Amino acid sequence: MPIHEKSLIRPENLHVHEELEIDGVDVSGHWSTFIGSRVVTDYNEDLEEEIAALPGGEHIHRCWQCGSCTNSCTVYAVNEDFNPRYWIYLIRIGMEEELLRDGDIIWQCVSCNKCTYACPRDVAPEGVMKATAHWLELKGHRPKSPSILFDEVFSEQVFATGKIEEGRIVRDFFRRTSQPLVQEWLVEMVRRMVRHLPLKQLMTMGWFTILRPRTRGWGRARAAIAEHVAEEEARRRAALGLVDKATE
Ligand code: SF4
Ligand code: SF4
Repeated sequence: MPIHEKSLIRPENLHVHEELEIDGVDVSGHWSTFIGSRVVTDYNEDLEEEIAALPGGEHIHRCWQCGSCTNSCTVYAVNEDFNPRYWIYLIRIGMEEELLRDGDIIWQCVSCNKCTYACPRDVAPEGVMKATAHWLELKGHRPKSPSILFDEVFSEQVFATGKIEEGRIVRDFFRRTSQPLVQEWLVEMVRRMVRHLPLKQLMTMGWFTILRPRTRGWGRARAAIAEHVAEEEARRRAALGLVDKATE
């Protein structure tokens, strides 16, 4: 699986001679571009398996590097460094250190799923991006991203009550990410809701935000979900070699 894009070669590995003549032929400048060789000592042979063990990463092995995901990607359109095809390539050959160099942009996937629809091999690249962002955090390479914090707030509320109350999710997310509770876009959204939604619906939403209603008989379901989540988390940590000493 060779890489063809010059943009993906690190600048320090590209060497150009401004003035060079070989056998009487002037190959100065662009024509004399050489790629410096390098020795890779940090292969992680388990990297593909580690990503595949996380939700969304299961089908990474199917990728045949066609590039349709990157071509259709919303984020790539505004930032050419955001390249799902390239990261999948790095993961499959175990180049962990190279992947880490892009660790601060991988989480920026907006989950639009254009790549998932474009992929001819059902890799689900959006899922692979989620799994990779999750992997970066579990391995301690990055702090939790706002996206993961949102997922946590969302899940915690569902586990606790069996319901989704958007107002509380937004409020709890703002608190967890130290954002002000009153924001311009939010005020505008509430203003429009007041203008367009029926009064009864508005009152119900406000009421539920204060009362925190629960789904009837949720206790048993919650216990079963908590057990399943704990098992899944233990399985993933084990797959990433993060088994706690106490549980060994
Ligand atoms: S889901 Fe993420 S990786 Fe896929 S096209 Fe959208 S932004 Fe790009
Ligand atoms: S579209 Fe699918 S098969 Fe093609 S490079 Fe992306 S993930 Fe791989």
